[in-house]
Amino acid sequence: MRGFCRFMLDCIFPRTCVSCGSFTGGSLVCGLCRDRLVRAEAAGRLPESCSPQVISPFFTGDVLIDLIRFLKFEGGTAVVGWMGREMAVALEAHSGKTGDAVIVPVPLHWTRLARRGYDQAGLLAAEVSRRTGIPLRHRALGRMRRTMAQSSLDRGSRKNNVSGAFHLRSAGQIRGRDVVLVDDLVTTGETVLACCRALSGAGPTSVTVLCAGRARPGKNKVERPDCHVLE
Ligand SMILES: [Zn+2]
Repeated sequence: MRGFCRFMLDCIFPRTCVSCGSFTGGSLVCGLCRDRLVRAEAAGRLPESCSPQVISPFFTGDVLIDLIRFLKFEGGTAVVGWMGREMAVALEAHSGKTGDAVIVPVPLHWTRLARRGYDQAGLLAAEVSRRTGIPLRHRALGRMRRTMAQSSLDRGSRKNNVSGAFHLRSAGQIRGRDVVLVDDLVTTGETVLACCRALSGAGPTSVTVLCAGRARPGKNKVERPDCHVLE
């Protein structure tokens, strides 16, 4: 029981580096791993015509993948406060469209929500909303069916996997607004593009994708073989 309590406490207040395991005394990552995070200094776009602007504080890399895996699969909600702040700073630095904006998280299927106990994109979206003052519309989109991990599929199958997976729940919350669509990680981009297609039915003024990390330009997927379950 003591070991379990220690494990739970470490999820809330990590004492060791999430990436390399060295002692940090309370920080999520040690100084060496923090230096290995790859900053994304500018906004980008997905490799699709007419794709939305994508903003993230980081590009995908080993340390970021470890942080996202800790958040999604190890109960590491301690990541949310720090990552939400980084995402909020990146949004304010790279997007001028925050006056009439709303924040919408990429929805999690209810079976994954039941198993995980929390919605990591929803938590990040709420944190960005709290820090920027942009209202959160967490039920504007719904997820009708569970999908396979995008990175486990070939390029031709990714679009079909998420096609029609999302639906609009509340067009009135979206119409005429600048939508900030929040997800934890954008790898192939097909998930957020499927959300954009669903959002377009409500007539938003614009859609900007905000995530913790995205693939570097010229790469449409993260490189590490063990990250196929992250999206
Ligand atoms: Zn480390």
